[in-house]
Amino acid sequence: AEEVGGGDKEVVREYFNSTGFQRWKKIYGETEDVNRVQLDIRVGHAKTVENTIQMLKDEGSLRGVTVCDAGCGTGSLSIPLAKEGAIVSATDISAAMVAEAEKQAKEQLVASEDGLSPAPVMPNFVVKDLESLDGKYHTVVCLDVLIHYPQNKADGMIAHLASLATNRLILSFAPKTFYYNLLKRVGELFPGPSKATRAYLHSEADVERALRKVGWTIRKKGLITTQFYFANLIEAVPL
Ligand code: SAM
Repeated sequence: AEEVGGGDKEVVREYFNSTGFQRWKKIYGETEDVNRVQLDIRVGHAKTVENTIQMLKDEGSLRGVTVCDAGCGTGSLSIPLAKEGAIVSATDISAAMVAEAEKQAKEQLVASEDGLSPAPVMPNFVVKDLESLDGKYHTVVCLDVLIHYPQNKADGMIAHLASLATNRLILSFAPKTFYYNLLKRVGELFPGPSKATRAYLHSEADVERALRKVGWTIRKKGLITTQFYFANLIEAVPL
């Protein structure tokens, strides 16, 4: 019942401005103060980012392509996209995340030392939940965000993200499979202090149905797994 009426979203916002921010900044960073599980998740997530960039580049250069990175976190995807020449709109519900992403972008997106290549275009960083995004983008990407929402919420989020994209939408989500369901249940029996939010799994069929309803279809898909990280990565296009 607490899933109705935006309860999840407020919990998620609060989490990613506090303990969640600290936890995920560490996982998405490069420091060595991570435990074995966090390191494994870092590696899995890095693969998702890498595969996403590959999926995008498979269709041609990203130079000048408008990309909306919805739920940008600390900028793991936005920054490499900017390096590829994309015009990136990077937004997140968490002000702490957006501030961190902006800080990292300023450090990393600099002109080459020999002055031969100019600094890439800075992503446009804005604190905004994805439900309030508007405008049109060639490409919309939303990585590892749906895990925070049950399928009944995710349907609307997927429809909204598709409405912002003219050409393609890339989504990643934790797959609802027997094995992963089991792992998750085991995890719930032993909740660590950092596991402050619920994780929701989504079946590919449900995501596909949500896309179909708004006239989109899945063109490519992949599965990324490490020991503790599982993600379905899909690329959808208008039918
Ligand atoms: N996409 C980033 C990545 O893959 O590196 C971050 C993933 S992190 C697990 C989830 C992010 O989604 C957090 O930064 C969180 O603040 C953001 N988020 C959660 N719900 C959101 C919403 N409704 N709108 C926008 N961002 C949201």
